[in-house]
Amino acid sequence: MHAGAPPAAGGREGGAREAARSGTLIPDARYPNFFSDVPLTDDYTFDRFIVGPTNGLAHAAALAVSEKPALSYNPLFLHGSVGLGKTHLLQATCRSLLDRRPDLRILYLSCETFANQFIQAVQSGDLKNFRYRYREVDVLVIDDIHFLANKERTQEEFFHTFNQLYHSRRQIILSSDSHPRDIPSMEERLVSRFKWGLVTEIEPPGFETRLQIVRAKSEQRGDRFPEDVCEFLANQITSNIREVEGAIYKVASLSELMHRPIDLALAREALRDSFSSSRRQVTIEAIVRIVTAHYGVKGVDLQSKKRSRSVAYPRQVCMFLARRLTDHSLVEIGGHFGGRDHTTVLYAVEKIDREVHVDAAVKERMDSLVREIRAS
Ligand code: ADP
Ligand code: MG
Repeated sequence: MHAGAPPAAGGREGGAREAARSGTLIPDARYPNFFSDVPLTDDYTFDRFIVGPTNGLAHAAALAVSEKPALSYNPLFLHGSVGLGKTHLLQATCRSLLDRRPDLRILYLSCETFANQFIQAVQSGDLKNFRYRYREVDVLVIDDIHFLANKERTQEEFFHTFNQLYHSRRQIILSSDSHPRDIPSMEERLVSRFKWGLVTEIEPPGFETRLQIVRAKSEQRGDRFPEDVCEFLANQITSNIREVEGAIYKVASLSELMHRPIDLALAREALRDSFSSSRRQVTIEAIVRIVTAHYGVKGVDLQSKKRSRSVAYPRQVCMFLARRLTDHSLVEIGGHFGGRDHTTVLYAVEKIDREVHVDAAVKERMDSLVREIRAS
């Protein structure tokens, strides 16, 4: 039996936005037991999700839920700021569940749709149908639950929905832009229920993960971009992964338009306007200032011929950070440090990069230097 067979809106694609606004749901022709307010996006699958240290737990938990719904983490609550893959993981979980267990009735929708449907049900005096629809599913997935902020009556309704589903051992999966306790005026009893399962945060990915995402997304679009272009994009886009797709599109379009190969110069040109205003340029001077203060050496020493470890090491750190945080070439960076040649810079970058990978303390120190430099 279906979850109260929701009324169909005309045409899946065209109906999506209308559905979210009016609160109607659209059936998915591929999955008879699946109802949602937006169609599943084909790209939002587990195998297209790049896993790194900052999203690993969220990914593993979503995977576990898709394998053993209601038996692993219930509810599963993912939170994190915009563009970090929450919707991607929610949809991947739905799809994986649908492929494994086509018998399960799954309802996937934005919290906004839930709230709109509730208001409509109240207005039309049809709460019975509304409740039936939500409380008779096997899996309820609600995206952007922070939308419940300051909505007392909708929270109250959701509380009862939650209880009913939870106590009949149905899976609940939620996403939010913040931790439950930080959602404005969220009722304490809901906050504590969310914690019955797993509340886990997705944090902005580090450089290595961003680099992998850029590689993968450029490959999905056509040809993988050259490595220096991938690094450039991974350096430019630090918080919202959605911007990666836009940037890849801009670079590829400019290349097609101008019949030019995709290289660093083209990428810089394509993105000149996107990031120069929103993201202040980090200068080598700023890097030198922070790094020398941290290691207690003089700026002039870094340019000197001195090779003692106390000077050589901070110099290598500067080169590494200059490569990560600025667009300067290896040659240009070498020029800033006493005219050293590009192989010396490359050696330094690779050396510190290796250390960052094997030594958590070094990684932490570099991360903190980066934060300080960006804030300076
Ligand atoms: P959120 O819901 O957290 O705002 P989305 O799930 O909509 O973010 O993700 C924004 C875009 O970034 C999507 O295109 C998504 O595929 C992509 N994305 C985010 N994180 C990853 C990741 N780890 N691997 C691959 N793509 C990702
Ligand atoms: Mg989202």
